[in-house]
Amino acid sequence: MRASVRTTIIRDLAGYEVRDYGNPAPVPGASLLAGPPSGIHIVGKSGTNETVTISTAQNLRRWEKVRRINSPEEIVEFMNAWGQISRWLGDDGSKPYSEAYILIEPHLQSIKQLASYVEGGDKRNFYLSLTGNRLLDRAIIAVDVNEPDSAFIVEAPSLLRFMIVEMWNEFGGERPADFGFRICPHCGTQFQVGGRRDTKTRRTDARFCSDSCRSMASRARVKLQGKAAFTPPR
Ligand SMILES: [Zn+2]
Repeated sequence: MRASVRTTIIRDLAGYEVRDYGNPAPVPGASLLAGPPSGIHIVGKSGTNETVTISTAQNLRRWEKVRRINSPEEIVEFMNAWGQISRWLGDDGSKPYSEAYILIEPHLQSIKQLASYVEGGDKRNFYLSLTGNRLLDRAIIAVDVNEPDSAFIVEAPSLLRFMIVEMWNEFGGERPADFGFRICPHCGTQFQVGGRRDTKTRRTDARFCSDSCRSMASRARVKLQGKAAFTPPR
């Protein structure tokens, strides 16, 4: 059974823009949330949204595009093309979108960091960074009866979280049985099997870390068998 992950993306019908509310002095006695918006926000232009569902089966690799985002203007560009990048709890697209840049920015840094591990084939640090990653704290697992080939569906609550799962898949995440670390029975080195073909990884069924270990082990085996054959019977 293959697992795929989908998410619902919310997109303003007229796109997004950067709005700078400036930095008004805090109103005495008012809480941060109750006050007027301050600082730079990304805002949906029309306040009316459409929704579209995407799936990891499409292999969109939008996390690669996030790596080029370095300013509020570039977030707007990204969101005009691909929709709202984050989603608050209960956000179904029925309300206008507005979010402070300083709240989005750390998430983009997180995606960029993870993307650099994906690029380097560094599964270990990728997984270590996922431990306690706040982007992964809500995900819903569902079963899609219409798609028996990918019956196990994980619903990612936002495009941000969706991209993390997409990156996970780069390491063969949706094929856990085919991917992993193995210990070479000849030299004891740990090596990777499965995953993407262009990374430094051995075939899924590889038993040894290298061809030289494979042939050395086979030679040693022949020698052992030879010895066994010449052992005089008692
Ligand atoms: Zn070896």
